[in-house]
Amino acid sequence: MKMLINGKWVGRRKKIEVRDPWNNRLIDTVPAASRADAAAAVATAVEGFEISKRMTVYDRAQILFKAARIIQDDLEGFARTIAREGSKTIKEARKEARRCTNTLTCSAEEAKRILGETIPFDSFPGGEKRVGYYYRFPVGVVLAITPFNDPLNLVAHKLGPAIAAGNAVVCKPATVTPLSALKLAEALLEAGLPPKVLSVITGYGGAIGDALVQDPRVRMISFTGGTEAGERIARLAGIKKMGMELGSNSPVIVLDDVDLDAAAESCVSGAFWACGQNCIGVQRIYIQKRVYKKFLDKFVALTKKYKVGPKLDEDCDMGPMISEGEAKRVEAWIKEAVAKGARIACGGRRKGTVVQPTVLTDVPITATIHHQEVFGPVVNLYPVSTLDEAIAKANSVNYGLHAAIFTNDVNKAFKAAYELDCGGVMINDSTDYRLDSMPFGGVKYSGLGREGLKFSLQEMTEPKVVSFYLPDWRR
Ligand code: NAP
Repeated sequence: MKMLINGKWVGRRKKIEVRDPWNNRLIDTVPAASRADAAAAVATAVEGFEISKRMTVYDRAQILFKAARIIQDDLEGFARTIAREGSKTIKEARKEARRCTNTLTCSAEEAKRILGETIPFDSFPGGEKRVGYYYRFPVGVVLAITPFNDPLNLVAHKLGPAIAAGNAVVCKPATVTPLSALKLAEALLEAGLPPKVLSVITGYGGAIGDALVQDPRVRMISFTGGTEAGERIARLAGIKKMGMELGSNSPVIVLDDVDLDAAAESCVSGAFWACGQNCIGVQRIYIQKRVYKKFLDKFVALTKKYKVGPKLDEDCDMGPMISEGEAKRVEAWIKEAVAKGARIACGGRRKGTVVQPTVLTDVPITATIHHQEVFGPVVNLYPVSTLDEAIAKANSVNYGLHAAIFTNDVNKAFKAAYELDCGGVMINDSTDYRLDSMPFGGVKYSGLGREGLKFSLQEMTEPKVVSFYLPDWRR
C-alpha cells in the first residue's frame, strides 16, 4: 500500500516489508517515509486545519458515521488485515473491527456535545458591563502515534475524536502493522473527509519520530505505546499538549468468597488475549490463601486447553507474538525468573515467534517479569492472606492502568476501588475490560490524560473565551 500525504497516495523507492508474524510471509510493502515526508505531512495538516475548523459539526459527524458504515460493510476485510499483519486471531480481530465502528460512531455522537458555558463576568467588580461565554476550539494539528497491538481501533481512538473536534491529523502507525491504519484512512476519505485533513505516514519511529514530535506546527501529540518511546517524546516535544497512553503490569485480586470457575475463566482470557500483548492484560494475580491451590489448578487446566496456532483458523485461541525478538525477550524474562526461584506451572517454551501460554508461581519481586510490563503470554500467581496485603502488593509497581478484584463482598469491592492506584478498577471482571466510550488512561508510568471519545474530545480541544464589552446594556 501507499501512504497518504497531501491528499495523494504516494510511494517511495525505499520500502518497508509487512510480514505475517506467524509464518514470516510477505503481506505487502509500505513506503519508508523520510524526514522530508514528515515535514510535508505536517505542512498538509496546517492547510487541512484551515478546512477542518470551518466544517460544521454536522458535516464532521456525518463523515464519521459514514466511515463506520463503510467498515461495517467490509468487517471481514478489516478483520483479516488486522489478523494477518498483527498477532491477533481472526476471532480477536473481528471484535476489534466491530469496536472500531463503535469508536467512530461514538466520536460522531460526541461531536454534537462539545459544549461551552456562559461566564458570570459580573461576579467581580469591573465586569458589570461584560457578557460572554467560552466554547471549545480544536487544538489544530494533532500528531497521532499508535502501537501494533490494536492496529485499527487504537488508530480510530485518535482519528475519530480529532476529526470530530475539527482538528487535522498526521498519523504515524506502528511500522510492523501499518495496513489497518491505511485502510481506515481509505474509509475516511471515501466517507468524504477532505483529503488534507488526514495524512498517514509510514516510517520508522526512530527515523522520522523526532522530526514529527519536535515540529512546532504540531499542537498536540496523542501517543499510545511503550514507556521508553513515550519518555523520549515527552522530552523532545517542547510546548505542546500531550496525551500518553502507556504500558502497564495489571493486577487482579481474587478473594475466597467467589465463584472460582468464573474468576479463572475471566483471568485466563484477560492474560492471553492478543497473546498477552495488551496494555490492560492480566499480569499478576493475588489469590487468597484458602483458595489459592484450587484457583491455580483451575487456571492451569484452562490454560492448557488454549489452542495456539495459525491466526486465521476459526478455532485458534492465541496467535504468535509480534516478532521473534519480542518472543525471545519474554523467554529470557521467564528464564531469569526461574533462575531466581520461580516455578513454571505450565507453558514456558518458545519456538520462533510462538511463546506457549505460561503460568508462573513463586515469582520473586526482584524478577523483571514481576515488576516490569511483560507484554506477552505470561501470568504470575501469588498467594496472599488479606485484602490489605493484596492491595499493597497490587500497588507496588510503577504502573497503574487497570486493576481488578473478584469478590461478593460489596464493602471489600468499594475498599479496593478506592485504594487501588490506577485509572480503572474492574469488579468481578479481569483487568481486560474496556468500553470504548469510558474514560481510559493510567496513573504513574501508565500515562497522562484520558482517552475514550468524550474525554479525548476534551483533550483535543481548548476553551476559547469570548467577552463582549457592552457599556450600555445595564443602563
Ligand atoms: P512502541 O515501541 O513504543 O511504539 C509505539 C509507536 O511509537 C510506534 O508507532 C513507533 O514507531 C513509535 N515510536 C517509536 N519510537 C518513536 C520516537 N522516538 N518518536 C516517535 N515515535 C516513535 O510500542 P509498541 O511496541 O508498538 O506497543 C506496545 C506498547 O504500547 C506497550 O507498552 C503497551 O502497553 C502500550 N500500549 C498502551 C495502550 C494504552 O492505551 N495505554 C494501548 C496499547 C498499547 P515504530 O513502530 O516505527 O517503532
